[in-house]
Amino acid sequence: YKRNHTARIFLPHLVASMEEVEETYIMIKPDGVQRGLVGEIISRFEKKGFKLTGLKLFQCPKELAEEHYKDLKSKSFFPKLIDYITSGPVVCMAWEGIGVVASARKLIGATNPLNAEPGTIRGDLAVQTGRNVVHGSDSPENGKREIALWFKEGELSSWTPVQEPWLTE
Ligand code: ADP
Repeated sequence: YKRNHTARIFLPHLVASMEEVEETYIMIKPDGVQRGLVGEIISRFEKKGFKLTGLKLFQCPKELAEEHYKDLKSKSFFPKLIDYITSGPVVCMAWEGIGVVASARKLIGATNPLNAEPGTIRGDLAVQTGRNVVHGSDSPENGKREIALWFKEGELSSWTPVQEPWLTE
């Protein structure tokens, strides 16, 4: 593939990081669960070719929501955000794949659904920032941090999908 080949010659460090197997924490927020969008949202990550390694329906306690969103503590919308995330069950997921962190963010779309492109989850399924149906980690470091925060040991599975040789070279 020509573009990759060029990048390999001039930017080997960039290609290496692009091809890194990563993990990300994806969460269907309470509005996504209530609106019956669980299957639709999981399906988008499945069809893309990522590997599901953790999955549960979970009623999030306030303390966990506050820890998860601790970087937003100073924002005026923080109390509203915590109420929203704890307002009903969420679907917690761990997904693994090459470049999965940035790729999942692209599939999810912009934070404000008004700016999210059609074809993205928020672009297709959401209207407002405060009800944007899904969360995705914003860096590989946060992917690891959030998976460790939301899942207990023994809740994650390491497995090899039969389609793997057809998805990666
Ligand atoms: P993202 O979820 O796209 O990474 P942020 O990390 O900036 O976005 O914000 C986390 C979440 O906080 C958003 O997904 C959204 O649910 C909520 N949020 C962000 N900004 C606002 C806002 N201005 N009003 C209400 N909720 C907000």
